[in-house]
Amino acid sequence: KQDDSNWYLEQTLAYAVADLCLPAQADRVPNPRMIAWNESLAAEMALDLPSEETRAQIFSGNIIPSGAAPSAQAYAGHQFGNFVPLLGDGRALLLGEVIDRHGKRRDIQLKGAGRTPFSRGGDGKAALGPVLREYLVSEAMHALGIPTTRGLAAVTTGETLWRKGEVPGAILTRVAASHIRVGTFEFLAARGGDAVRLKQLADYVIHRHYPTLKDSALPYSALLEAVVDAQANLVARWMSVGFVHGVMNTDNTSIAGETIDYGPCAFMEAYHPKTVFSSIDLQGRYAYGNQPNIARWNLARFAESLLPLIDTDGDAAIAQANAVLADFPGRYSQHWLAAMRPKLGLSSDTGVSDSADTELIHWFLAAMQSERVDFTKGFRQLSTVVRGNVEPLRSLFNGSADFADWLEHWNTRIAQEKGTADERAERMDAVNPVIIPRNHQVEAMIEAAVREGDFSPFHALLAAVTHPFEDRPEWQNYCEPAPASFGPFTTFC
Ligand code: AMP
Ligand code: MG
Ligand code: MG
Repeated sequence: KQDDSNWYLEQTLAYAVADLCLPAQADRVPNPRMIAWNESLAAEMALDLPSEETRAQIFSGNIIPSGAAPSAQAYAGHQFGNFVPLLGDGRALLLGEVIDRHGKRRDIQLKGAGRTPFSRGGDGKAALGPVLREYLVSEAMHALGIPTTRGLAAVTTGETLWRKGEVPGAILTRVAASHIRVGTFEFLAARGGDAVRLKQLADYVIHRHYPTLKDSALPYSALLEAVVDAQANLVARWMSVGFVHGVMNTDNTSIAGETIDYGPCAFMEAYHPKTVFSSIDLQGRYAYGNQPNIARWNLARFAESLLPLIDTDGDAAIAQANAVLADFPGRYSQHWLAAMRPKLGLSSDTGVSDSADTELIHWFLAAMQSERVDFTKGFRQLSTVVRGNVEPLRSLFNGSADFADWLEHWNTRIAQEKGTADERAERMDAVNPVIIPRNHQVEAMIEAAVREGDFSPFHALLAAVTHPFEDRPEWQNYCEPAPASFGPFTTFC
């Protein structure tokens, strides 16, 4: 089909690694309608914009841009600890890769465009609710400065799907640094003797994501180290905003270090490390506080996949990989401290030791836990204290004596920071969000769209969560935790 876009869509991964990507087609949909279009991301990606009508056709898969050769990728994965040798894109279609304005190669993928060779029993489609959730939450994460896949477009298809009842069909256009996962490596590693393709994939990843490692003496353990660091950083950033991913399987662990797969994710309100939202995570494997451990576990699966490349001598390979993995806790702690210190108005150049500041932060968290303080509000209100008004924060902590004690220590500590009180408060407000996608707001937005076809709550909430540090009166209702009547919140994949 001809179209009026002028995109140069490549499939370099398909060329680099034989038979990893299989050709796939999008289904025709009856009535595509544009719900969301990410103007600024499109500009960043230097997409020569097609007309309004063509856009809905392209992002529903009805028109494939000329020259594109869409594909679905194979991958394996450990799901809740169990290895599944073949998963793959069962409902995702890679339209192609483009080079953005910064020279970065990015994937454009349609999620929900129909069955692929990897669909097994599924219909290959996506329901409107999850599409809106992923678009909104991924854009919120981006606005929070956290590495993530992005939402470029969301369309409704005019189809009705069956998901425990009838729901409207939709398609999300997802943009990612790439869709290569730990599970992509596991897929090749599990096919014994396929070291050739494994090396092709590793070399491709180095070239695309970590080009400075090309000349490293030990490129594959350097690759492991780079991914360990990227994941340590990513999870530290999640922890700093109370994000619970919910399904940290190895097929949802991006090699580029982006947050990927927004199925059962949610933001924590009352602080508790055991917080879980997913209906199927009965053991709390993916609880908020367990996320760093799980990241490390997933990275060990990545390391195992790389062993044949790291060294032909198995014992030597294991020793090298273990040495790299052993750095995870230290790297994680550094990234965590780097993310958390500024939230409390602390900088790292005052001469106060890392361990003293770490202890002070953990004390604040413990006080939040015992008083069930809302994570987002607890941090945001710290700047109000710096501005001279302690009451709002004190009331969040119900006048707790432990909190009063902590406050005294913190006041002593921040006295060592540079700048006026106002400057310090402003720096804190630039890292402690006022607005996160609150679960009850996200659910209400989905309800309105799915039940009534009303997308105004979606657009209003999207505008707010993409300006998370702005304290505007008209967004006041987005800043409050769920009312008690909302009850305990559960998410579904
Ligand atoms: P996810 O929950 O998105 O991480 O998906 C896990 C696996 O299930 C992947 O292989 C998906 O492609 C597949 N999958 C999920 N939903 C569908 C669907 N509606 N149709 C076909 N495959 C699906
Ligand atoms: Mg997934
Ligand atoms: Mg999912």
